[in-house]
Amino acid sequence: MDFSFTKKEEEYRRTLRIWLEENLPEGWIEGKRDLPENEEEQAQFLRDWQKKMNDGGWVAIAWPEKYGGQSASVIEEIIYHQEMVRAGAPHLINYIGIHMVGPTLMDIGTEEQREKFIPKILNAEEVWCQGYSEPNAGSDLSALKTSAVKQGDKWIINGQKVWTSYGHLADRCFLLARTSNLEKKHKGITVFLVDMKQPGVEVRPIIQMNGKHDFNEVYFNDAVAYDEEIVGEIDEGWKVMINLMLHERTGIGAQIFTLEKQFSDLVLLTNELKENGQPLIKDPFTRQKMVELYTRCRGVLLTYYRNITTSMKRGYPGAESSMDKLMSSELTKDLFEFAVSIQGHQGVLWKEDALANPFWQLDYLSSFGVTIGGGTSEVQRNTIGERLLGLPKDLR
Ligand SMILES: Cc1cc2nc3c(=O)[nH]c(=O)nc-3n(C[C@H](O)[C@H](O)[C@H](O)COP(=O)(O)OP(=O)(O)OC[C@H]3O[C@@H](n4cnc5c(N)ncnc54)[C@H](O)[C@@H]3O)c2cc1C
Repeated sequence: MDFSFTKKEEEYRRTLRIWLEENLPEGWIEGKRDLPENEEEQAQFLRDWQKKMNDGGWVAIAWPEKYGGQSASVIEEIIYHQEMVRAGAPHLINYIGIHMVGPTLMDIGTEEQREKFIPKILNAEEVWCQGYSEPNAGSDLSALKTSAVKQGDKWIINGQKVWTSYGHLADRCFLLARTSNLEKKHKGITVFLVDMKQPGVEVRPIIQMNGKHDFNEVYFNDAVAYDEEIVGEIDEGWKVMINLMLHERTGIGAQIFTLEKQFSDLVLLTNELKENGQPLIKDPFTRQKMVELYTRCRGVLLTYYRNITTSMKRGYPGAESSMDKLMSSELTKDLFEFAVSIQGHQGVLWKEDALANPFWQLDYLSSFGVTIGGGTSEVQRNTIGERLLGLPKDLR
C-alpha cells in the first residue's frame, strides 16, 4: 500500500485549503467557531454555509459532474475529509441528503426525481431526514408498521417514526412504509420521498442527555405521497433501503479523520491539566493510555485505507464498511470517556462550570449514540462475523 499522495493530489489539497481560507465564516480561521445557540439561527447559518460550499463546487465532490459533483476519486475524497477537519469547517446540514438520498436517487431513482431533488439537496434548499426506525423496528427494520395505502391517485401514510435526525429541520423524508402484509416481512415495503411540511406530519423533539436536540419522533396522520415520489418498485423498498445503507456506512467510516483531530485535542488537554503541578501527560498511567488510544487511532485509519482500497478495486462498497463503523464509533466513545475521566471529580461539571473545554463532557454524552445510530455495534459485529469471516448465521 502506498500512503503518499501524488503531485496532482497535493495540488487538489492546496486548492481546497485556499478556498476554505478565503470562504470560511468570519472569525472561523482565528478559532472563533461558535455556532448560533438559537436553533433556527443555527439552521440558517448552516444552510447558508452549505450554499456557499455548493457555489464553490465543494458539497458532493464524489458525485458525477452531471449532477453537480466533481467526479472526485476516493483519494480526493480522503483529502477533502482531512482538510475539512483540519480547518474545523462547519458541518454540512444536509448530511442525509448528500451522503444517502442523493447517491440512492442516482443509483435507483427516476430522471425526473434526480432533476427535481438533487439541485436542492446540494444547495440545502431542501434538507432531508431518514424515516426508517420505529418504536419496535430499529435493528429489525422489517418489523416496521407505518403504512401507506393507495387511495385514488394518492398514498395515505399513517404511523410513527423515532430517532429521526434532522426531522425538525427537514423539508423531505426518505421514508420506509409497509404497502403490503401479504408477503414475507422483507417484502411489501416501499420507499417514499415525503413532503415534511404538509399538515399530516407532526414532529416532536427528543432532547438528548447533553441538552442537544438532534433527533425527533415523527407522526404521520393521513399524510400524503404520490406515485412519482416512490423510489424503485412498489413493495420492493428493501433493496432500495440496503443500497442507501451502504452509502450511509461508508460516510460514517470517514469519521476517522475527526478522530485523529480529537486525539490531537486530547494531547493538548493532557498538557493543560495538572497533577501535583506537573502536566498530566507526564503521568505514566496517562502516557500508557494515550499510547493505547493512539495505536487504536492508527489501526482504525489503516483499516479504513485498506477497506477503501478493496472497495476501489471491486468498484462498490461492501460489508467492510461495518468494520470502519464499529471501530471508529467504539474508539470515539473510549477516547471521550478517558478525556472526562482525567478531569477527576471535576469531570462531572459541564457548561460554564467545566474545568476544561465543556466540549469533552458534551460530546462524551453524544458518543454513546454514535455506537447505535446507523446500526448498533452488535449488529455490525454480526455483519463482520457472517459476511466477512464466514461464521454461521446468528440465531434469529
Ligand atoms: C444518534 C442517532 C441517530 C439516529 N438517526 C436516525 C435517523 O435519522 N433515522 C432513523 O430512521 N433512525 C435513526 N436512528 C435510530 C437507529 O438506527 C436505531 O436506534 C438502531 O438501528 C437500533 O435500533 P433500536 O434503537 O430499535 O434498538 P434495538 O434494535 O431494539 O436493539 C436493542 C439492543 O439489542 C441489540 N440487538 C438487536 N438486534 C440484535 C441482533 N440481531 N444481534 C445482536 N444484538 C442485537 C442491539 O445492538 C441493542 O443493543 C438513530 C439513532 C441514534 C442513536
